[in-house]
Amino acid sequence: MTTRKSGGNRQPNMTGTIMKALSGYYYVSDAMDGQQVQCRARGIFKLRGQSPMVGDRVVYQHTDNNEGSIVEIKPRRSELLRPPVANVDLAVLVFSIVHPDLSLVLLDKFLVHIEHAGLKALLVLTKTDLIPPGAKGDDVERMLEHTVRLYTSIGYDVVRTSARSAEGVEELRRHLAGKIAVFAGQSGVGKTSLLNALVPGLDLNTGSISTKLGRGKHTTRHVELIPLGHDAFVADTPGFSQLDFAELGIEDIGVCFREFRRYADACKFRGCTHIHEPACAVIAAVRQNEIAQSRYDHYCNFMMEWKEKPRRY
Ligand code: GDP
Ligand code: ZN
Repeated sequence: MTTRKSGGNRQPNMTGTIMKALSGYYYVSDAMDGQQVQCRARGIFKLRGQSPMVGDRVVYQHTDNNEGSIVEIKPRRSELLRPPVANVDLAVLVFSIVHPDLSLVLLDKFLVHIEHAGLKALLVLTKTDLIPPGAKGDDVERMLEHTVRLYTSIGYDVVRTSARSAEGVEELRRHLAGKIAVFAGQSGVGKTSLLNALVPGLDLNTGSISTKLGRGKHTTRHVELIPLGHDAFVADTPGFSQLDFAELGIEDIGVCFREFRRYADACKFRGCTHIHEPACAVIAAVRQNEIAQSRYDHYCNFMMEWKEKPRRY
C-alpha cells in the first residue's frame, strides 16, 4: 500500500480499533500491541461525509507529535446507531435465573430487538450458584433447563454462568474472542459482575453497564470499548436502551421470531400476521408443539403492543 504524507515523511501503516471518540480525537488500540494512540482523522473523511465511529477498524500512522492520524476506515460489518458503535458482532443477552427472576417475555422482547438490529445473539443465563445443591426438580432448576432447551432448539447459543462460582466463564470467553460485543439485560442481572469475572483486575463498578429500561429520554453519552483480551471488546453502554416497537413494522416482529420463518412461507395468505388468518402454518405449528406456546403468546402480546402504540407521523 502506498502512503502519502505531507512533508514527505513516510510512516508505516498500522492497524487498530477505535476505542473511544472524544473532542475530535479518536483513541485507537493498536492491533499488535494493544497500545492506545491518540489520533486525529484526516480531513478527507469529512470531505467524503464519513466519520469514524467507535468500533471502527482503521489504518493509522504515527505523526511527529506522538499522536496518530487515521488514514483509512475499513468497511464496517455492522453499524449500530443507538448506541453508535461500528462492527458489533454479538449481542450478549444476560438474564439471571433469580434476583431478578427470569422473565421469558422480556427475554423474547430483547431477542426481537437483537434480530431487528441484525446481530447475532448469545443468551447468558447467570447466577446459577443460587440453585441449591442437589436441587433436581427444584422450580428454578426446571425453569433453567426448560429455557436452555427451548432457546437452543430455536438456534441460539446459550451459556449457563455464575460470576460467583465461575461456571461458564471460560465458555463465555470463547464466544467473545475476536468480537465486539454489547451486553444487554435488565439492571441487577449481573452484567458487570460477569465482565469482572472475565477480566481479572478490570474492577468495573456495579451499575456501570446498566440498562435503564424505557425510563426517561435517551441520554447521549460517549461510548467506550473495554478490552477483554483475546481481541475481544465490549461496549460500556446498554445494548438497547429502549425496548419499544415503534420503529418496527408488523412484518418485522414476525420475522424476528426466527423459528416462525420456515413456516411463514406456507401460510395461505401473503402478509399473514399469524393471528387470525385461516390456514396459517405458524398457528398449525404451535398446535403441533413445533413452536413453543410461550413464544407464540409473546408474539401476540408484542403485536398488540405495537398496534396500540401511538404512531409518529
Ligand atoms: P448489572 O446491573 O447487570 O451490572 O448487575 P451487577 O453485576 O451489578 O450485579 C447485581 C447484583 O447481583 C450484585 O449484588 C451482585 O453481587 C449480584 N450478582 C452478580 N452476579 C452474581 C452471581 O453469579 N451469583 C450471585 N449469587 N450473585 C451475583
Ligand atoms: Zn400465518
